[in-house]
Amino acid sequence: MLPDLPFDPAHILIGGDWRATSETLPLGNPSTGETLTHIARGPAADIDDAVRAANAAREGDWGRMTAVERGRVLTRLSSLVLQHVDTLSTLEALDVGKPLTQARADAVALARYCEFYGGAADKIHGETIPYLEGYTVYTLREPHGVTGHIVPWNYPMQIIGRSVGAALTMGNACVLKPAEEACLTALYFGWLAQEAGLPAGALNIVPGLGAEAGAALSGHPGIQHLSFTGSVATGAAVQIAAGANVVPVTLELGGKSPQLVFDDADLDAALPFLVNAGLQNAGQTCSASSRILVQRGVYDEVARRMAAAYRAKRIGAAMDDPDIGPLINATQKSRVQSFLDQGTDLELVAQAEAPQSQGHYVPATLFGQVAPDHPLAQQEIFGPVQCLIPFDTEEDALQIANGTDYGLVASVWTRDGARQMRLARGLRSGQVFVNNYGAGGGVELPFGGSGKSGHGREKGFEALYGFSSLKTVAAYHGTSG
Ligand code: NAD
Repeated sequence: MLPDLPFDPAHILIGGDWRATSETLPLGNPSTGETLTHIARGPAADIDDAVRAANAAREGDWGRMTAVERGRVLTRLSSLVLQHVDTLSTLEALDVGKPLTQARADAVALARYCEFYGGAADKIHGETIPYLEGYTVYTLREPHGVTGHIVPWNYPMQIIGRSVGAALTMGNACVLKPAEEACLTALYFGWLAQEAGLPAGALNIVPGLGAEAGAALSGHPGIQHLSFTGSVATGAAVQIAAGANVVPVTLELGGKSPQLVFDDADLDAALPFLVNAGLQNAGQTCSASSRILVQRGVYDEVARRMAAAYRAKRIGAAMDDPDIGPLINATQKSRVQSFLDQGTDLELVAQAEAPQSQGHYVPATLFGQVAPDHPLAQQEIFGPVQCLIPFDTEEDALQIANGTDYGLVASVWTRDGARQMRLARGLRSGQVFVNNYGAGGGVELPFGGSGKSGHGREKGFEALYGFSSLKTVAAYHGTSG
């Protein structure tokens, strides 16, 4: 059962008004396979209206706000998110199938994004540039204007925090298209933003199908920037659509992120990260660590300890707060199942049983002795599946780690400081962690990929640069006397 909501979940938010659409879509509960509620099926015309409303906000109250005032709105929003953590986590657990504790962590992260960016709003500025005699030259950081945000279903709150939070901070007006599989926390965030005093039209939210509302937003001539998180194929299509209007795009497209475990690693410290970085959110994480590269001297020990950790994992309904919840829907379940079927030739190191139910559960699976070029070691599975890959030398490890199309996150487990530095430089990856993985979420840490993991950076101050454009002002005033 959904908690009582202060808005109709089948409505969209445009220009400060909640309104119905002519068609709706069923929203599933991944833990039970049942329909949770219905959401709007926003048509292209609603995206037009949303872009118009965003433009009006830019020219109205929102556009006139100072950086300090924008920061205060974001800070109030952060407090409201924290006050509503219970409702937000319940919605995310029901909608995404995310275990309650993980859903709660996402809600707290959303608040932290709003806090971080709210505090940064008036601390980001241009520069003065020494130039020719008689000139004063400086740069201004200006909002792009209207920014589009296409968000997937796996981490709605975190992704909204890092993209919409940063875009609003710089004074952009946003049109958000959440995923059709999970959009309740996006709508709730929109309602909280209104309560925080965000002017009408600064944030417009249009749920709907990717091929309809998503395509309309990515190809819309009225947006000046697009942020997309999701699959490689859709990201490429979105980039082409935005490119037709010469709109810049930030793409965050997932990965095949490795952890490199050397013989001298502190295995007690590494173990929870090796396992949980792969199984968090049932492996439906862009930065999931799906490849564990282990030096042969500790390979058996790592395999044995990871297997024990897998066997202790509990898979179940999100509201029961298990270690691992269901996958988002039947399509993802059959996709992951087809990867598991491709692994029948591999060594099965351990498996955590999936419940027999109408929910979209798959067993958490650890494969061993996987060749680096095996499809399971190359393709993004987006499920609770990890591959153990043995290696001999540092050079081998680097070659294997860099040997996929992706480059989002990597980590190195070793006590050897020089090796840490060499690999931090050598790994083709947007983030490299040394003797940890993920560094507690890292709202402050720039995040993004290379290769098929995408381009552009979100999180930290880099997002504020990305969601603004730089104007250079060169003023000639001559010299006195
Ligand atoms: P997707 O990329 O198709 O969907 C992501 C978002 O894009 C959703 O909001 C969707 O409505 C929208 N979208 C879909 N088609 C669109 C189009 N033509 N134009 C504009 N927007 C469009 O991903 P999916 O189908 O939900 O999942 C498939 C695979 O994508 C997963 O198995 C996984 O490998 C990957 N994925 C990655 C991430 C990530 O965080 N990097 C998130 C979700 C899915």
